[in-house]
This record gives sequence, C-alpha cells and structure tokens, in this order.
Amino acid sequence: MKCKICGKNAEIQAFGMWLCRDCFLKLFFRRVNKILKKYWHGEKIWVALSGGKDSMALLHYLWENGYPVHGYHINLGIGDYSRSVEDIIRSYTEELGVELLITNLREEYGFSIGEIRRKPCSACGTVKRYLMNKVPRENGAEILVTGHNMDDFLEFFIKNMLGKNYSWSRKLVPYLEREHPKLLPKLRPFYLVGDKEIEIYAKLKGVKYIKENCPLAKLSGWKEILYEIEKKKKNFRYEMILSVWEMAYFFPQEKREIRECKLCGEPTSRDICSFCTLRMRYGKKSTG
Ligand code: SF4
Ligand code: ZN
Repeated sequence: MKCKICGKNAEIQAFGMWLCRDCFLKLFFRRVNKILKKYWHGEKIWVALSGGKDSMALLHYLWENGYPVHGYHINLGIGDYSRSVEDIIRSYTEELGVELLITNLREEYGFSIGEIRRKPCSACGTVKRYLMNKVPRENGAEILVTGHNMDDFLEFFIKNMLGKNYSWSRKLVPYLEREHPKLLPKLRPFYLVGDKEIEIYAKLKGVKYIKENCPLAKLSGWKEILYEIEKKKKNFRYEMILSVWEMAYFFPQEKREIRECKLCGEPTSRDICSFCTLRMRYGKKSTG
C-alpha cells in the first residue's frame, strides 16, 4: 500500500485512507492543533491524568509541542488498579519532566471509590468534577484540559438522544467557558480524534499508559457500533462529530444559579455540594 498523501510505503490505515507514519502524525497534529489554536490563549494548562491512553497521549502531545503543562491525578482507591495507575503516571511524568500533583482520596478525605457499593461511577464522577477543578485551580491552573475524545462525545450524544436528554448535548463541545470565578474553563483537544487515532499516536510516540480498564467500568458497546458503521461509511465518526459540534449550540444553555457550598465554599447549585454530601456519608466530616 502507498501513502495517499506522499506516495511512500504506507503502514497505517486511519482518517479514511492509507498513510505513512509521517503523514499520519501530520494529520493527527492538524486535527488537535485546530482545537488548541482556536481555544487556547496562553493559559497555564493542567491535564487531568487517569493513566489511560487518552490522557497520557494528551500529556505527551502538549509536552512535545511546548505547552506549559502540568499533570494532576486523583488516586481513587480502587485496589491494585489505582496503585498501578499511580505508579505509571509518576514514572511517565518524571520521564517527561512534567510537574505532577496527586490527591489520594482515602488519605485526604477519608473514603475511596473502591468501598462505595452503590453506583460507584456516579460517586467517582462527583469526586473527579470537584477535585479536578479545585486542586489545579488552587495551584495556579488557568484551564483544565481533559483527554475526552471524539468517540466519547459521539457515545454521549447517542445516549443523550436515546434518553431524550437533548439539552445535555449543549456540553458536547471542545471548549466550555468559565461559568463562575471558581470554575476552571475546560478544553478537550482530542475532540476531533478518536480511540483508534489516539492508540496509533500513542504507539508511534511510545506513550506509556495503563492497558487495563478500571475494574468497575461497564462498557456500553456504542463505540464498537460506531466503528462497524465506519467500515461501510468512510469518515463517519469525523463527519458526525462536526455535526454534533454545530448542533450543540442549538440546545439551550442549562440555567442554573451557581453559589458557594456552605461547607467547603466550592461552586455548586445547591446549599451543600455533592462532594461534601459524599464526604459526610462515607468519609471525614470536617471540611479541611
Ligand atoms: Fe470511576 Fe472506574 Fe467508574 Fe470510570 S469506571 S467512573 S474510573 S469507577
Ligand atoms: Zn462542599
């Protein structure tokens, strides 16, 4: 096979064509850079690191391209899995020379996701939203960057449509502005690349990441379906995400009054934020 762009030997099938290594990397850069160029204006970046391929490849991308990047990780306390994740993040950030901050949920707040029996993923979501905003902000972050990718957003979009939660799709855009002085803006540079492209990038660049999924994860199967469609419809995922990007702005912005939690002072739409509610139920009661 020959590379569709330069005619050299091609070893990679991606972006709907055969490509050589260099042309793949150029196209990957072009898609990620399109988002960064549009929405990044020199702010100090903190990457939320879960240890998986997306966040670790994103860390590598930002580091290699000279962005002012820092890493933040939450040890969620999910047994051996969390221990392996923390080890790999520590060693990879050290190798790249990137500053890393870690919060250990059990040590600092007295509970862990591994011990929550009822809906652990929902509690985990609350913990991540809260700490990923609070800790980097308190340490000088001006923008929070996450590894959510094109396939994640397509999956969210389908689920929102099927659940008739149409307005939730308003958030399925590459950049979310600051809604409150204490809420960091959020940027998703991998909005135009999916699992497959990121996996190839990680392999070509030797990115280190944890290969296993979280033991509590329940996979929906939607991503496999997207890839099945793409076998018959070239570039389906890319064309679809461009539509989702445009369509998202048609959905009304959720009107919510943001105030400060009576216990911890962090932004919330209730008197007591969901994180403090969790902590009162499972962990230390103090607000320190
Ligand atoms: Fe958290 Fe694991 Fe659930 Fe993901 S799968 S939300 S990491 S508990
Ligand atoms: Zn609170």
